[in-house]
Amino acid sequence: MNYKEIVSRMSLEDKIALCSGADFWHTKEMVQYGIPKMMLCDGPHGLRKQEESADMLGVNQSIPATSFPTAVTTGSSWDPELLATIGAAIAKEAAAHNVGVVLGPGLNIKRNPLCGRNFEYISEDPFLSGKMGAAFIKGVQNNGIGACVKHFACNNQEWKRFSSDSILDERTLREIYLSAFEIAVKEGQPATVMSAYNKINGTHCSDNKSLLTHILRDEWGFDGLVVTDWGGMNNRIEGFRAGCDLVMPGGSAYMEKEVLQAVKAGQMSEELIDASAERVLAVVSKADHVLKKEHNYDVNEHHNLAKIAAEQSAVLLKNEGAILPLEAESKIGLIGSMAKEIRYQGAGSSHINPTRLVHVTDVLPTAPYVAGCSDEGDTTEEQLKEALTLAKQVDVPIVFAGLTDRYESEGFDRENMMMPEGHHRLITAVAEVNPNTVVVLMSGSVVEVPWIDKVKAVLYMALPGQAGGEAVVNLLYGKAVPSGKLAETWPMTYEDCVSSSYYHQKDAHYREGIYVGYRYYDKAGIDVRFPFGYGLSYTSFQYSNLKVETICERDHRYKVTLDVTNSGQYEGADIVQLYVAPPRDAIYRPVRELKGFTKLSLKPGETKQAVFHLNKRNFAIWHEGWKVAKGTYYIQLGHNSRDIPLEIDMHLEGEQLKAPIQYLNSWYENPSGIPTHQGWEQFLGRSVIEKPLEKGKFTMSNTVNEMKDYSLIMKIMYKAVERTVAKGFGGKVDYNDPAFRMVMASSADSSLTAMKISGAMRNYILEGLLEMANGRYLKGIKYMLKRYT
Ligand code: BGC
Repeated sequence: MNYKEIVSRMSLEDKIALCSGADFWHTKEMVQYGIPKMMLCDGPHGLRKQEESADMLGVNQSIPATSFPTAVTTGSSWDPELLATIGAAIAKEAAAHNVGVVLGPGLNIKRNPLCGRNFEYISEDPFLSGKMGAAFIKGVQNNGIGACVKHFACNNQEWKRFSSDSILDERTLREIYLSAFEIAVKEGQPATVMSAYNKINGTHCSDNKSLLTHILRDEWGFDGLVVTDWGGMNNRIEGFRAGCDLVMPGGSAYMEKEVLQAVKAGQMSEELIDASAERVLAVVSKADHVLKKEHNYDVNEHHNLAKIAAEQSAVLLKNEGAILPLEAESKIGLIGSMAKEIRYQGAGSSHINPTRLVHVTDVLPTAPYVAGCSDEGDTTEEQLKEALTLAKQVDVPIVFAGLTDRYESEGFDRENMMMPEGHHRLITAVAEVNPNTVVVLMSGSVVEVPWIDKVKAVLYMALPGQAGGEAVVNLLYGKAVPSGKLAETWPMTYEDCVSSSYYHQKDAHYREGIYVGYRYYDKAGIDVRFPFGYGLSYTSFQYSNLKVETICERDHRYKVTLDVTNSGQYEGADIVQLYVAPPRDAIYRPVRELKGFTKLSLKPGETKQAVFHLNKRNFAIWHEGWKVAKGTYYIQLGHNSRDIPLEIDMHLEGEQLKAPIQYLNSWYENPSGIPTHQGWEQFLGRSVIEKPLEKGKFTMSNTVNEMKDYSLIMKIMYKAVERTVAKGFGGKVDYNDPAFRMVMASSADSSLTAMKISGAMRNYILEGLLEMANGRYLKGIKYMLKRYT
C-alpha cells in the first residue's frame, strides 16, 4: 500500500473519518480506497478479543486465550527475554484471531501502592519498566502484530481518571514518568502509543502537543500511530494539532464536522489530517499483510509458558530455617480459599477468559484442604476452628491469602494497604498453633504483613496467570527455584509512603517529585518491609571481582563486569542489580538509581561473569536538558537497593551544574516527613489551586458524578446511570461488586465527552443536559427539542 498515494485520493471527509474507529474495536474499512478494517484488542497479559458485546472493562465475555501472569508478576522476573517470549506468544494468539494490535504493555510508574491498576504496571522504577516494556514490544512485533504502549502519560491513579490533572515539575516528569516510555519507544519502536485519559499540567494528554509531538515524535523519533485511550479524546481539533491520530472507540463521528469546518475555514492545515490518516494506514496495512496468512498456535505450549513465567517471577519474601523447599514426605495442609480458587489475574480491561485454569488443589488433590475464610475475607469461628484443627495435624500448614477484585481493580483505587481482615486473622491463628506456617500471597500490589514474624516463609506469587496453581506447587517443592525480585518497595505501613496523605484527590499533586519508591525510602532513611529489588532463593550468590573499564571517557561510556558465584546447593538464577550513586552536589538526588540488571542461571559452585554497559544517560539528570554533572559517582552492585556488597567510585568530567534557587534548603534536598503543599508550590514556582466546580461553568469535560452535587438534573442522571448499569447486574445496585463499581466509575465518572464518544447517549441530549446542569433549563430543553425534531 502506498499510503501517501491513497491519502492523496481521499476526500477530506473520508480522511477525517478514517481517523476515528468504526466501532468499539475496529478501524474503518473503506472499500472505495482498498482500505481494510483492523481490530485492536487488550492486552497486555493475554488476548481479550470480544466477539459479541464489547466493553472496555472486561465485564462481557471474550474468546478463550492464554492468561499469562500479569505485569506485577512478570515485572518481578527482571527478565526481558521472558517478557519477549510472552509478547511473542500473545502476538501469535492475536494473529490466529485476526487482531492487528495488542493494547499493551502498560508502562505507568507505580507511584503509590493504592493505585487500583498497579497490577497492570511493571515497576516503581522507570529503567526496569522501560527495559521490560521494550522487550515485550519486540516480542509482539517480531511476530508482525503491533504493540501499544499505554497510558501515555502520568496516569497514576484510577480515582477520577477521566478528569484528573497530573501536576508535576519538568524534572520529575522526565526522570520518572516519561523515562520508561522513552526507553520502550526508542528500543522497542512500538507501532502505537495510547494517550492517557488524564491531563498533564492542565492539558489533556490527547490534546498535548508537547507530549505527543515535541517529546514523543521529535525528541524520541516515534513514527507510529497515537491512539486515544477508549473515550479519552478531548478536543478533536486540538488532538489533530497535537499529533493524536486515532479516536477509539469509533462510531460516534466525534467532532468530525467541527474539524471539517476548521480545515475549510483555514484554521487548521489539511496536512495534519493527512499525516494522521497516513499513520492509521501504515498500521492497518501492515496488519492486513500479516493477517492474510494463516496463523495458529499451540494452546498447551502457551499454558506451559504461562507456568514457567509464573515460576520465574515468584518472589520468596521469607524462608526462615530453610523451611522451603518442602520435603516430599512432609505432611502439608492447604488452608484458605485461594488454594481452591487461585487469584490469577486482575479486574478490568486486561481480564482474560483463560484457556485452562489450574488451582493448587487441582495439582495436590490428596492434600487436605479447608477454606478457613472466604477469598473476600469473611470468616466465622467455626471456619477458623476447622482451619486450626487441620493446622495442628500437619507438619506444614500452607495458608493462601491475598486480595480480590473487590479490593483492587481498574476503575477505582484501593482504600488501604491491608488484606481482607479475615485473611490476617486466619494467618495469625494458624501460625499460633503451628510455627511452621508458610504463606502464599496472591495480590496485584503490595500489602501490609503485620503477621510476618509469626510465620516461617512467605512466597509472593502476585497474580500468576492461568497456570498459577502448578507454579506454586513446583516452587514449594523445589522443582522450580524462586528467582524473582520485587519491582516495587514494600513499605511497613501505607503511612510510610510519601504520597499517602495527599494521594486520593481529584488532581494528582506530584509533591514528592522524583522521590518515588526506593528513591524516597532510601533518601529519607525509612525502614521498609522489603526493599526494592529484594527476593530470596533456595540457593545463595556471592559477588566478586568488580571492574569498571572506560570505553570512551568523553561520551561517559563504561563497561562494568563482576563475577557471580552460586555458593549454595541448588541450581538457580540471580538478578544482579547495578545502581549509580550520584555525587553530593548542590542538585538534589536520590541516594542511588537502578541503571542496569541482568539475570544469570548458575549451577551450584558455578561462576559466571555479569556484564553491564553504561552510557551518558545513565549518569544524567534533567536540568533543562539531559546533563551529566561533574563529580564522583559510585557504581554499586547489589542484591537489592539496600544490600550493596560491591562498589567502585569514579570521577566524571561532567558539567558544573548550578542548582536553581528553589532547590536550596527545600524538602527535596533533605526529604524527611511529608512535603508541604506550600513548599511544593515554591519549588514549582507557581501556585496550584484546585478550582472549585461552579454551576454555570460546567463543560463537556466534567463528569456526571462531580456535577451531581451541584445540579439536580445531574443527580437524576446519576441515578439513571446507576439504574442502567444495575440492569446488567440483575437489577442490583451493589457497590461491593467490583464489576459494578468499575462500570459505574467508567460511566458516571467519565466526562460527557467520553460519553459522547462511546455513544452512551445521543450528543444533543448530553449537550442539552449540560445546559440544564448549568442552570439554563429552558435553553437546554429547547436545544434538545430542536435537535430531536
Ligand atoms: C483502558 C485501556 C484499555 C481500553 C480498551 C480503557 O478503559 O484504560 O487500558 O486498553 O479501555 O479496553
